[in-house]
Amino acid sequence: MITIQLKPKKEESLQRFHPWLFSGAIQKIEGNPTEGELVKLVDKNGDFLALGHYQIGSIAVRVVSFQNEKIDDAFWSRKIRLAYEMRKSLGLVTAKNNTYRLIHGEGDTLPGLIVDIYDDTAVMQAHSIGMHEIRETLAKAIVENVPDVKNVYYKSETTLPFKAAIEPEDGYLIGKETEQIDAIENGLKFQVDWLRGQKTGFFVDQRENRSLLERYSNGKSVLNMFCYTGGFSVYAMRGGAELVHSVDSSAKAIDLTNKNVEINFPGDPRHTAYAEDAFKYLNNLQELEQKYDVIILDPPAFAKHREALRNALKGYKRLNAKAFEQIKPGGILFTFSCSQVVSKEQFRLAVFSAAAESKRHVRILHQLSQPADHPISIYHPEGEYLKGLVLWVE
Ligand code: SAH
Repeated sequence: MITIQLKPKKEESLQRFHPWLFSGAIQKIEGNPTEGELVKLVDKNGDFLALGHYQIGSIAVRVVSFQNEKIDDAFWSRKIRLAYEMRKSLGLVTAKNNTYRLIHGEGDTLPGLIVDIYDDTAVMQAHSIGMHEIRETLAKAIVENVPDVKNVYYKSETTLPFKAAIEPEDGYLIGKETEQIDAIENGLKFQVDWLRGQKTGFFVDQRENRSLLERYSNGKSVLNMFCYTGGFSVYAMRGGAELVHSVDSSAKAIDLTNKNVEINFPGDPRHTAYAEDAFKYLNNLQELEQKYDVIILDPPAFAKHREALRNALKGYKRLNAKAFEQIKPGGILFTFSCSQVVSKEQFRLAVFSAAAESKRHVRILHQLSQPADHPISIYHPEGEYLKGLVLWVE
């Protein structure tokens, strides 16, 4: 195995179990590792630190073990089994909930790997070359350890670094496309299109926040902005909402939302979906003087990297300011950011500025985050990406 020696003092973050080695910390590489290869990290004295996947880029190594152990099929199988057993013991795998995240990268000590489960199908996404290289082993380990899973779909064409000399192809590693899957979340059914949909096809991370919305929806008029598959809309309907409007700029998303509403509430007249840009829709409302009791804002990540942070914060402020204008007195706003580079504090400040601009009294009822199947390693705080506020607007 190729050894990478660190510069003096650069071992400290690894000793605190942070799973990334940045290229600037490297003193010497013995040999010529290929991308994705398993390498050994040692300190300036040659003492063992960790084992990880090598990759060209700012993050040079993603650690898979802090022990000097054998990394074979059994090793990967153990990790997958542990992740499954945790979800199972938390009550996330039941007949009423067969939709959950099985592997959440660093949070499950598997940096570079994402796996979501929809009924009998696992959708696997590699973000590192190391995970791409062992995709077949991982797929086998998933089927062996997760009792209900029969198919593994690999979807990494857009998530792997494009500069790497590989050409990932999306497709089934095990099994095949099933006629009709029933993705069930908290007893609600969803059609999930992992072939054409965003990410793995469904945003599993909002499950608990959707449940909270359900509790507050009875008798309310609800606007679900950036609805995608209509997750929040369907929960609001089950919660007894009087009217639900779903908005997304993508016509495909609107189709999916309408389908999912129809599956759960056939012929229900309370729901209407609009394919429209968020800002345009909110501006039109102003003219129509239409207001809502509950508004959900769950936009795509406004900042995908650090350079975009300032503009992203402006975007969050502008969007939330619009919602504060359009919400009824005593209304409830669910507002989210899934940008990893935007901290909880920065997001809250952007929403604070928007609230102050609207001159309305705003109380924080809940501070939301990602659910237990998207765990954050305590050693890797960067894994915390989803943040939300539930606000009462006087
Ligand atoms: N709330 C959803 C996830 C939202 S993903 C859920 O619970 O599953 C973000 C969505 O925002 C995508 O569907 C995307 O099509 C939509 N979107 C992106 N830009 C938009 C814009 N300017 N106006 C309206 N929708 C937009």
